Amino acid sequence: MTSIFDTKIDFLKGIGPQKAAVINKELSIFTYGDLIQHYPFRHEDRTVFHTIAEAHEDMSFVQFKGVLVSLQIQGDGQKKRLTAQFRDKTGVAELVWFRAINWISANIKIGVEYVVFGKPTYFRDSISIVHPEIEPLTTALEKSGKLRPVYHSSEKMKNFGLDSKGISSIMAQLVELAKPHIKENLTEQIISDFKLESKKNAISQIHFPTSQVELNNAIYRLKFEELFYAQLKFLRLRSGRKLQNSGIVVQHIPLVNEFYKSHLPFELTNAQKKVIREIYLDMGTGKQMNRLLQGDVGSGKTIVAFICMLMLLDQNAQVCLMAPTEILADQHLNGLKVFADKLNISIVKLTGSTKAKARKEILENLANGEIKIIVGTHALIEDKVIFKNLGLCVIDEQHKFGVAQRAKLWAKNTNVASHVLVMTATPIPRTLAMAFYGDLDVSVIDELPAGRKPIKTVHRFENQRLAVIGFMKEEIKLGRQIYIVYPLIEESEKMDLQDLYNGYDAILKDFPQPEFQVSVVHGRLSPADKDFEMQRFIKGETQIMLATTVIEVGVNVPNASVMLIENAERFGLAQLHQLRGRVGRGAEQSYCILMTSNKISQDSREKLATMVRTNNGFEIAEADLKLRGPGDLMGTQQSGVLDLLIADLSTDHEILKLARETAQALLLDDSNLTKPQNQNIYNHLQAISVKTINWSRIS
Ligand code: ADP
Ligand code: MG
Repeated sequence: MTSIFDTKIDFLKGIGPQKAAVINKELSIFTYGDLIQHYPFRHEDRTVFHTIAEAHEDMSFVQFKGVLVSLQIQGDGQKKRLTAQFRDKTGVAELVWFRAINWISANIKIGVEYVVFGKPTYFRDSISIVHPEIEPLTTALEKSGKLRPVYHSSEKMKNFGLDSKGISSIMAQLVELAKPHIKENLTEQIISDFKLESKKNAISQIHFPTSQVELNNAIYRLKFEELFYAQLKFLRLRSGRKLQNSGIVVQHIPLVNEFYKSHLPFELTNAQKKVIREIYLDMGTGKQMNRLLQGDVGSGKTIVAFICMLMLLDQNAQVCLMAPTEILADQHLNGLKVFADKLNISIVKLTGSTKAKARKEILENLANGEIKIIVGTHALIEDKVIFKNLGLCVIDEQHKFGVAQRAKLWAKNTNVASHVLVMTATPIPRTLAMAFYGDLDVSVIDELPAGRKPIKTVHRFENQRLAVIGFMKEEIKLGRQIYIVYPLIEESEKMDLQDLYNGYDAILKDFPQPEFQVSVVHGRLSPADKDFEMQRFIKGETQIMLATTVIEVGVNVPNASVMLIENAERFGLAQLHQLRGRVGRGAEQSYCILMTSNKISQDSREKLATMVRTNNGFEIAEADLKLRGPGDLMGTQQSGVLDLLIADLSTDHEILKLARETAQALLLDDSNLTKPQNQNIYNHLQAISVKTINWSRIS
């Protein structure tokens, strides 16, 4: 079935093959459907007039009503320009043209009333507008009462007359042409429940609104629709999988009970209990669990993972835990071993560095079911790794693994799908988690174990370094250990390494041997050297760990009480928070010191102020979202998950929530969308599942 939205833009009046080619290339717009979704990114309010006196440079545009009082051509050659003095009741502004001088000077007249529009700047203390739009007052007023759309364009497009104004006139034609063909794609119920604008009106009014209210309604409608369909897709994916995949049924759990009764090393927090219950119930349904476990650093995810593992050992199944790095795999191994030892359960590790002989033995014992718990890196995914009966995959640090890798792991059980528990210490705002992990259920540990002293965070400048060093020495004298972290950005690894070594020299001067011992760890070290240096710190042989961000992903040294971060402004908020989480794990008061030069931007100051103000990972994640926008989080841009045209996840939380609830309610009532009143939605969903046909969003 073809529709008008398939039509190539070449067929629009005013667009020949040449212009079409430019638009294809610059904006990836090919069809009427593509073009009509090239929404303006803002509108200019031509209903408002300013006075010359109130104009200032910070305004993005001004519109004056007044009289032209003089006109002259100045300079010659390159510097030739037309200048005009333009007066209203409050003052005089200068208008300047460098191009089309003859044409303009022939067409404007002194003494006539004009409307002038443009970007104001200061020139010699008075307001000046370069290349203003200028129209006789009468014609301008005819057009007034309108918000004019402003479209993204490019230099290349402008050379072909396709600036915002050019696009606007083509768009006006297209909207008229297409309007009769725009079909509603939401139900009457939804439209009336949320008082949404119709699709037809929304499309026409987002381009050419006659009032701000109309524009707002159009934007709201289109955002809602976009998020609604995104959620609907996710939810259907999830329920579809739930129907398909069965998982091992977790029911009787004697081992869990024994551990709980006799070996629990501490009282679990309510949050931990709640999450364990959620997971237990989920794995009891006979369906595969796919769950994201979110918990701030230090919230105690390890013991939760362990108890979940026991639930599967109780069903005579095997479990695995996959971590993104060797160091982190080690930490998990050690963390789990503490608990497993109490039950005399052995744990093995498999990574890229496991020796051939040991590897062979491990693979055999996995296949015959001897090994119950295995911890490792992506080496676990390899085809040679075969389980007898894999029941649960715990995956740490989700964003380092792709969805496909996840699937490759859980599919290693060919009878029933293994349950999946993805753990992340990156606190993701709940609303965003919906968008990112719409296919996963979410559990949150939102409480730290009791008795933790909140980490004290300060921002210190270069000129305070002496005092900072003095403070660190005192901490070391008290028997504590210290991290010093340098930023490392891949592209300039060499330079940063240089920073690290310069830092190392400085540290050795400030903390002379043999009184102080320093470990140095960075990404260029061999795994063995890295491990050696880490172990020295973990065992307490060194008091200072100087590192690039490799320590971000792991290490648990409860005796470490100070985290000093150099050039802190170069880290993102999420990363700073992760780093800070490396301290505050013991009973002592811990500190995080953010060092920067005295010259940093206002944005950086605000970012660091957020760190100083709060320890709450979710609050930080929200702030991060606002600062960077969702596209930057976890490389989502490429994944297509957030392929949004108009909605903005950093500001549209409320709409997202509403859209999700609406999608949920709809599926609850009509899971297959077969009811006649949902025909619109079913059809549209079918259409947008064919991803390549972008225009289908519209029809
Ligand atoms: P993370 O969520 O960062 O993986 P861990 O599981 O490593 O956190 O836990 C951090 C520390 O807190 C560990 O030393 C762990 O034994 C301890 N811990 C976890 N839960 C509790 C609790 N309920 N009470 C006291 N200490 C706990
Ligand atoms: Mg952990």
